[in-house]
Amino acid sequence: MSRIGPAGGHDLLKPEGIERVDVPSLRRRLEREVRGEVHFDGGNRSAYSHDSSNYRQAPIGVVLPRDAQDVVVAMAICRDHGAPVLSRGCGTSLAGQTCNVAVVIDHSKHMREIVEVDARRRLARVQPGVIRDQLADQTEAEHHLTFAPDTSTHEYATFGGMLGNNSCGTHSVMAGRTADNTHQLEVVLYDGTRMRVGETPPEELERVIARGGRRGEIYRRLRDLRDRYGELVRDRYPDIPRRVSGYNLDELLPERGFNVARAIVGSEGTLATILEATVELVPSPPARSMVVCGYPDVFHAADHAPEILECGPTGLEGLDDVLIGDLKALGKHTEDLDLLPGGGGWLLVEFGGETIEESDEKAHECMRRLARERDAPEMKLYDVQAKESRLWDVRESGLGATAFIPGEDDHWEGWEDAAVPPEQLGSYLRGFRDLLARYEYRTSMYGHFGDGCIHCRIDFDLQSTEGIRKWRSFLDEASDLVLEHGGSLSGEHGDGQSRGELLEKMYGPELVEAFREFKAIWDPDNRMNPHKVVDPYPIASNMKLGAGYSPAEPKTHFAYPEDGGSFAHAALRCVGAGKCRDASSGTMCPSYMATLDERHTTRGRSRILFEMLQGDVITDGFRSADVHEALDLCLSCKGCKGDCPVNVDMATYKAEFLSHHYKRRLRPPAAYSMGLIMLHARLAAVAPGLANAAAGAPVLGALLKRAGGISPRRDVPPFARESFRSWFAGRPGANPEGPRVVLFGDTFNNFLHPEPLKATVEILEDAGFRVVVPMQALCCGRPLYDYGMLDTARLFWRRMLGALRPHLREGVHVVGIEPSCVAAFRDELPNLLPDDPDAKLLSKRTLTLGELLLDRAPDDWRPGRLNRRAIVHRHCHQQAVMGFDADQALMERIGLDFEVLDSGCCGMAGSFGFERRHYDISVRIGERRLLPAVREASKDALVIADGFSCKTQVSQLTDRRPLHLAQVMRMAAEHGPKGPAGNYPERGYPDVVPARLLRRRSG
Ligand SMILES: Cc1cc2nc3c(=O)[nH]c(=O)nc-3n(C[C@H](O)[C@H](O)[C@H](O)COP(=O)(O)OP(=O)(O)OC[C@H]3O[C@@H](n4cnc5c(N)ncnc54)[C@H](O)[C@@H]3O)c2cc1C
Ligand code: SF4
Ligand code: SF4
Repeated sequence: MSRIGPAGGHDLLKPEGIERVDVPSLRRRLEREVRGEVHFDGGNRSAYSHDSSNYRQAPIGVVLPRDAQDVVVAMAICRDHGAPVLSRGCGTSLAGQTCNVAVVIDHSKHMREIVEVDARRRLARVQPGVIRDQLADQTEAEHHLTFAPDTSTHEYATFGGMLGNNSCGTHSVMAGRTADNTHQLEVVLYDGTRMRVGETPPEELERVIARGGRRGEIYRRLRDLRDRYGELVRDRYPDIPRRVSGYNLDELLPERGFNVARAIVGSEGTLATILEATVELVPSPPARSMVVCGYPDVFHAADHAPEILECGPTGLEGLDDVLIGDLKALGKHTEDLDLLPGGGGWLLVEFGGETIEESDEKAHECMRRLARERDAPEMKLYDVQAKESRLWDVRESGLGATAFIPGEDDHWEGWEDAAVPPEQLGSYLRGFRDLLARYEYRTSMYGHFGDGCIHCRIDFDLQSTEGIRKWRSFLDEASDLVLEHGGSLSGEHGDGQSRGELLEKMYGPELVEAFREFKAIWDPDNRMNPHKVVDPYPIASNMKLGAGYSPAEPKTHFAYPEDGGSFAHAALRCVGAGKCRDASSGTMCPSYMATLDERHTTRGRSRILFEMLQGDVITDGFRSADVHEALDLCLSCKGCKGDCPVNVDMATYKAEFLSHHYKRRLRPPAAYSMGLIMLHARLAAVAPGLANAAAGAPVLGALLKRAGGISPRRDVPPFARESFRSWFAGRPGANPEGPRVVLFGDTFNNFLHPEPLKATVEILEDAGFRVVVPMQALCCGRPLYDYGMLDTARLFWRRMLGALRPHLREGVHVVGIEPSCVAAFRDELPNLLPDDPDAKLLSKRTLTLGELLLDRAPDDWRPGRLNRRAIVHRHCHQQAVMGFDADQALMERIGLDFEVLDSGCCGMAGSFGFERRHYDISVRIGERRLLPAVREASKDALVIADGFSCKTQVSQLTDRRPLHLAQVMRMAAEHGPKGPAGNYPERGYPDVVPARLLRRRSG
């Protein structure tokens, strides 16, 4: 096969015979006979057409089996149709081994059971979809045992994938690669043979062979292969901790126990499908201490790795100044970086012990040893877990965070995990630096220095034939350099398509022939993940980019400043790191957390948008129903904008998509009933009693909900009798000489919950501000984004700017109390009106209440104290766009004894949870953490949430009603430090004063 095809890397190669697969029949049988899920639609095929590498191949279809038997059935049907099979876990592979033109069998959704933990024998049996941390969290908590290899993706990578790739991690220094920690595997072959494999003592081997059958034949041929190639294996396999390239033929050697399970590990789904694994556990030291060593540069740091290894660390990682510079340029981990000592290259050295004294002593011993050296590093010791985690986060951010650096070309994988003997690391890195300089490539270097494995993302040009040629030539030289240093092309990510073609350089033609024979023993028809590792597709083919990459570049509503104004680049932004598949913590991605569907991850949606612009799998562009379906469950929570390492902003992409999708077409009813709530609210304000009566009337209310696409199980929040603006207009102002601040009365609080706004006025005036409230009906258009009504949103902003311009130009700040609105000022506004200087000004000058009081209130102003217990739910938009530090600091000043919940999205997300078709998923998301936490909170504790929709979700599904922080401050002012006596303290602080009280007040 040619090294660079006519399409300059864009050539889409397929396994042979693929055109003979009767896809409709295959699909029918899978749908009929598999108990799990079967998807052959464009959305799913797009979502699964990429892994985290530079490659892209659309699968034939996707199967999500319920259990092992389901896998066996699916594979039998594929066999009957001659269809290739590709096993998949989380899909975070970086060498192209998890995409292929095949039926993808994704084990990660239903096959995630830890079958057994045998602490005495230090073994665990897991299904392939179990996540590494799922097991380790359990065994560490219960038995102080762990599974040693911990990839940077440990929170979402599966055992199937770790076994597939022979993965490693920070703690491989302690106990090796995945292969070194594998006990037994249960596998099924393409021909349907199902067997359990592991170490095979000689007499057992002979017995199996003598028994015959397919298993006997396989073992006989494996033995013969070993006998023929054993000496060559001993001779050519580098004896280094991170030899991950090539098949593990060394595991068949007699001195390694003819371990068939370990020989299969690292085979990247090309031999068999793993149905269950028994893995080994190692003691996990309960106490850890970390020494951070600062050296003049990363090369000196590498030179010192071998002597530090002699001190017996449990982890030894390194990073360079370029990575730190990149993180600073991106504004990521800025506070964590202060934990590093001075220098230009760092080693993070972890020691373990039974007690902190023990791990500290090991750390001190190492520090004493290093301090005696002439070129001793600057050192800092940490033995508090929170700080150690922050430093590990800095290190783990590498692969994701360094992709898109402001002012630099995009950086790509493509040579990112070579390994050399640790004692050669310094020399290798210097050679690598010189090579990069010759090619004028830029990168940062970081990785598992204790194991000699280095990561980097490089600014390869993968979009021109010339650039691809240069990259390909660089690969030749880089692989020479690694081999000169006695290393392995891959030190943990595997070969897939990225390195398959280079294996002959590392092992020679005879061993590559041995690999071919090894594969043929298991998979004679070449149907298991074909052309990865063995007989590989050329490195420069099936590329996601390539010289033929020319996506549609639609004219957009948003400016996409971080993507050079290109929606296509925004759709390319996802590097596939998989963090959006972390279902256990953070905000991102609530729809995945609730469905465990790849299509409903941020990543899946990114890929679907990519494919939409590419036009191969999805051919009807913005009109596509497949794309609409994938985006439909996106709550526009902006969790990804905050949590994703490359800040994929799916809420914005969804709004953009919907605006095109519905261009000159009727939108669903909810768009008009809830997207235009600001207009209805203005109308309702004329006769709120009538509007509420209509919404609450049994038949009429139900009809109105039905017409508006609202779930019958939702109560429509009533309109206030008196809007905030009317209230404000009728009261005398305070502090005429005080600093002016504009209070933005957002649609929700103005018409539906005026009390938090009134409380805000009282607080601001107490702090000496002169509060100004524009009397025009202004709206940031927040609900419009959810329905892609972006032309209308732009009109609203222009009206807003018209009203606020005089204040802005006089340097006045605007304060908002609805987090999603403040986020719209900060984020959507400059993105929609990028060339308007007043829009920029307004965006910068709009603050949350916390930010305003903390930064701009007079120094001697103190909020009222309230020593009350509280649980706090952060609005996702606030978390993603403004951050929560100011609010947290304000709550500390107030004296609250509070816990900020890791509750992610509340599930309501504006109007999302009101919609009939979203009700169930909305509740499921709320029930994940927030709602149970509210129910468990003691009844006299405060529940604090600033977002209108979060408050509504909690109020409608529990017996508590959250308060806005402004209401809590009002409570402190009115009641003093103890607050109101008894349970349900919120009862004295309604969001809207009942009509009868209003009447009494005005009478
Ligand atoms: C940002 C980032 C950081 C990373 N850091 C590390 C790191 O520190 N260390 C490291 O080793 N890797 C790292 N990786 C690579 C990757 O995360 C690991 O290889 C991980 O273990 C893959 O797990 P997965 O569930 O995503 O597997 P997938 O990508 O889904 O699959 C991996 C391979 O295993 C095969 N496979 C999956 N399930 C089965 C099965 N049931 N039977 C047979 N074969 C199967 C697949 O066909 C594929 O070839 C990183 C990747 C990224 C994107
Ligand atoms: S969307 Fe972000 S978090 Fe998810 S895989 Fe892509 S880069 Fe990673
Ligand atoms: S906006 Fe929220 S729901 Fe949508 S993709 Fe991002 S994290 Fe997921």
